[in-house]
Amino acid sequence: MRFVVTPPATVSVPVVGTEDRFPVHRIYCVGRNYEDHAKEMGFTGREPPFFFLKPADAIVAVEAGSTGVMPYPSLTRNLHHEIELVVAIGTGGKNILAADAHKHIFGYAVGLDMTRRDLQGEMKKQGRPWCIGKGFDHSAPIGPITPAAQAGDVANAEIHVQVNGQDRQHSNVSKLIWNIGETIEHLSAAWELQPGDLIYTGTPEGVAAVLQGDTLTGGVAGLEPLNLKIT
Ligand code: MN
Repeated sequence: MRFVVTPPATVSVPVVGTEDRFPVHRIYCVGRNYEDHAKEMGFTGREPPFFFLKPADAIVAVEAGSTGVMPYPSLTRNLHHEIELVVAIGTGGKNILAADAHKHIFGYAVGLDMTRRDLQGEMKKQGRPWCIGKGFDHSAPIGPITPAAQAGDVANAEIHVQVNGQDRQHSNVSKLIWNIGETIEHLSAAWELQPGDLIYTGTPEGVAAVLQGDTLTGGVAGLEPLNLKIT
């Protein structure tokens, strides 16, 4: 087959312990999924889960042991970090029950849901879509994916991010309002999940701004860390 323009390259993420890579289909994100983060954003912390998407090519895939690069994006004066556990879907499906969700998970990674907070806030105020605040180029840095069998107890793992060596966010995945299984149940009722989908599960409290030149070090216990420099 010949294409009328050059088709885009497949976006992919390294997999721990192999040369093989995980191809990215869609990026789903869960909003306000830790109570203390919902509160810092001005909400009660109790609401049904809600979702937004980022384009697959917003991924900045960072190799094990290296520091990824994210160019400071246009239009914003308030670029925020949101450290998140990312779930990588290996087997698709729709109407997946929470109890069966583990059968659909390939592995886990550390991700940053980078956010142009000023633009997101403006869109919220006007009741408009969040795309410009959330779905911009380079907005989804991610570290290598650890296969589920090697990942340990991610549901109870400590999660953190430091900026220039200073603690910014520090919590535990056990504090998710909607846990991994429940998130997959809700998400797969709305969309048919596909192999290659990534789910950014939400961020704990402590979101704040980063500047050009800052270095972020993110981690979830049991997974490869994510190192990122803003340039
Ligand atoms: Mn987020």
